[in-house]
Amino acid sequence: MVDYVDPELVLAECPYCEHAVLAREIGALGKPEHVNNWKWAWRYVLARCTECSGPLLLAHDAPWDRLESIWPNPHGRELSNSIPEALRREHSEARACLKAKAYTAVAVMVRRTLEGVCADQGVTRRQPLVASLRELHQQGRIEGRLLEWAEALRVLGNQGAHYTGVQVSREDATDALALAEALLDYMYVFTSQYEAFKARRSQPRSAPGTE
Ligand SMILES: [Zn+2]
Repeated sequence: MVDYVDPELVLAECPYCEHAVLAREIGALGKPEHVNNWKWAWRYVLARCTECSGPLLLAHDAPWDRLESIWPNPHGRELSNSIPEALRREHSEARACLKAKAYTAVAVMVRRTLEGVCADQGVTRRQPLVASLRELHQQGRIEGRLLEWAEALRVLGNQGAHYTGVQVSREDATDALALAEALLDYMYVFTSQYEAFKARRSQPRSAPGTE
């Protein structure tokens, strides 16, 4: 097994430390002997990071012979499939930039994601991003607090779009990414769920005793 340094230490990517660490194995569960059609990893390892003491759940996949962190999810929360794939791709690239500590690139990718949302919603006029979001708000498609949040994020303005000589901070990049995620959820997950709920409720119910 390539990843085992000694019987109790494993090499793993720690999401808290954000780099490869040695983790101490606390316990493990393997594939039961009698199960042949096992589709999942063949071994799950509960371990503790030797640098930050954070808990990690790792999975060992036989075909690739490697340990992967499955909790906490190193890639962040999975976005819903109701979000258009092109927008999910932009957002996941923004996340990758944050992981790589490329904070200005995060701002650029978040802007692209939000511009994509506006375009997808039919707001394509050439105007600053915040003006497009304001337009979506006026049409009743963006909630007021999301707009306020977008207006307050300086990185969504010139700082993220053009050369200003000012670096984007980690905090600003993290906030921008969180806003993009909230906006995608609001626009494509909550809104459509709510519309479906309203449609279901407006359907005439069958009279009592007829079911
Ligand atoms: Zn750690």
